[in-house]
Amino acid sequence: MLPPVKKDRIINQLPNYFSPNAALHTKDGFHPQVQAACQVHKKDTVSLNIAKVIVVGDVAVGKTCLISRFRKGAFDKNYKATIGVDFEMERFEVLGVPFSLQLWDTAGQERFKCIASTYYRGAQAIIVVFDLSSLSSLAHARQWLEDAMKENDPSSVLLFLVGTKKDLSSPDQLAQIEQEAIRLSEEIKAEYWAVSAKSGDGVRDFFFRVASLTFEANILSELENSGSRHVGDIIRLTEADHKPTKRKSNCC
Ligand code: GDP
Ligand code: MG
Repeated sequence: MLPPVKKDRIINQLPNYFSPNAALHTKDGFHPQVQAACQVHKKDTVSLNIAKVIVVGDVAVGKTCLISRFRKGAFDKNYKATIGVDFEMERFEVLGVPFSLQLWDTAGQERFKCIASTYYRGAQAIIVVFDLSSLSSLAHARQWLEDAMKENDPSSVLLFLVGTKKDLSSPDQLAQIEQEAIRLSEEIKAEYWAVSAKSGDGVRDFFFRVASLTFEANILSELENSGSRHVGDIIRLTEADHKPTKRKSNCC
């Protein structure tokens, strides 16, 4: 039996977007069908509802620090390059229903790219990370997205473009790079966020938004597929359905 979800991981309202010009949607509440389904079944739902989220981007843009700031509530000053991939589970309760994000942290080095790409498959969300103080890392974002998309169905993946290290940029520099980032987000249909793992600025809001939007999309898609109105049936998924599968790779 899992321990109860921590109080600061409970989501009862749809969190706000960062920028209305680059948001996946700008509605101010969860989809009414999702709210209704959760309302009916929240009490007797003890099940496994998971979304796989992959985090990609150039080496040293701050992917690992971003995840660890959210998970531990602190900035990890000891730099350790990620080797291959790591994954962490983060548990939430959304509209009274247990929900977990499986956060896959990948290595940005060219030599690990092939290993990492074998873990891209079956993602519900892709987070493309760039460093707000490095234009080249933003320029590479499109390539990261293309690589991640090769393994996924574009119609069912939510995209987030996240600029990190907000603490390092002056307001002028920030405005300039944000203009580019928002333009790219509109083009690739991603939701844009600017955060700082160092100060914590925006990190919690960002992950709450990821959890909420993936939860909403999961429930809506299950409602559509099953034609059922019972969220209890929907989220009673077997663990086997969600176990990370290691695929054989013929590269690297
Ligand atoms: P990754 O390779 O993308 O996983 O990058 P890391 O998370 O390991 O971070 C790379 C470097 O950037 C480390 O030296 C971190 O201390 C630094 N870093 C990460 N996030 C921030 C941030 O928000 N602000 C600042 N100033 N430095 C950061
Ligand atoms: Mg890393």
